[in-house]
Amino acid sequence: MDPVITCRGCGIQLQTEHPDRPGYAPASAMTKETPICRRCFRIKHYSEVSSVSVLNDDFIRIVSEIGEKEAFVLKVVDLFDFSGSWIDNLRKYIGNNPLFLVANKVDLLPKQTNLEKASRWLQREVEKKEIQLAGTALVSAVKGIGIERVKTAIERHANMRDVYVVGTANVGKSTLINRLIGLFGETGDVELTTSRFPGTTLSAVRVEIPNYIHPLIDTPGILTNHRLTDLVCAKCLKLIVPDRTIDPRVFQLNSQQTLFFGGLARFDFLSGERQPFVCYVANQLEIHRTKLENADSLYEKHVGGLLAPPCDQCGNHLRDWIVHKLQLKKGQSTDIVISGLGWIAVHGDGCQVNVHVPRGVDVSLRPSVI
Ligand code: GDP
Repeated sequence: MDPVITCRGCGIQLQTEHPDRPGYAPASAMTKETPICRRCFRIKHYSEVSSVSVLNDDFIRIVSEIGEKEAFVLKVVDLFDFSGSWIDNLRKYIGNNPLFLVANKVDLLPKQTNLEKASRWLQREVEKKEIQLAGTALVSAVKGIGIERVKTAIERHANMRDVYVVGTANVGKSTLINRLIGLFGETGDVELTTSRFPGTTLSAVRVEIPNYIHPLIDTPGILTNHRLTDLVCAKCLKLIVPDRTIDPRVFQLNSQQTLFFGGLARFDFLSGERQPFVCYVANQLEIHRTKLENADSLYEKHVGGLLAPPCDQCGNHLRDWIVHKLQLKKGQSTDIVISGLGWIAVHGDGCQVNVHVPRGVDVSLRPSVI
């Protein structure tokens, strides 16, 4: 059996196969006298935290340890995929430690978005979850919007506690930590250090910022399987994750018309008055309109081509669709949310629709966010 080699930074067992998992180091690093994992290497040499992810059981083990510490927990969710990136039952694991919600990626909301309305919407969603919070912030880790509010919350609530950053994969935890590091420390010429936090699991890394009293604990993101983003290949992921402000696309549809979102989801307007459907998905994702009666044959002929993603690399699981039958009442503006893809806003004329998505992908309704 090969001897176990551990990282000199955080102590984790090194592995060379899974770049996105904790403990990854390229094979060349393993021969060094003091090998370190890629995550610690980047923190040390570039002052930059990079993402790693784990499966559910490991994640629960990590967050359960938070309950035994004096901690301040930043729970990061993706505003663009709020329900898809929400972690249920976090309070159960973190005990009475103060919890602050960071709703990230606010920069993706269309320019005309009323942020006060979005903020009220966030409060209502949080109230529905019946979770006690020390506060919330709408932020963009990429653009630096709202980060001061997070900093103030840390300074107000953390006291001498370590600050844990927790969330599902891809919500922007690493980007947020890098922003906070930039804000807290003048890291241009100082070296950040990482260490294993005594008594905690190896894959949570403590990042010490020189001259700053609150170390940040970077926890691995939990991998989920109910978001379209979890199911497509890396290349197609780029086509469905928005990388800039969403331009809403409005389709005036008659009943018996269909929209295809690439070949990943299908929206059938079955009955109701002619009305607008406003689509909030990545700008680079193509939306095709067709007659309902032609939809099956269009899909058969063009999936993977005109209707892409998916591509051949994605695998056949994306072609195994199930149908969600939805009846929307008159007088209520509602978002039909397709987890990991975006949402379709329906503005209260009442209608009956079918939403087809790959098996396992969540489809839900919520009061309109915009
Ligand atoms: P992590 O897996 O939670 O650590 O997420 P990352 O920090 O690696 O970010 C995942 C993806 O989301 C990357 O492509 C980031 O560039 C992007 N991202 C992170 N924060 C933001 C944000 O505030 N706005 C936008 N538009 N994208 C973001």
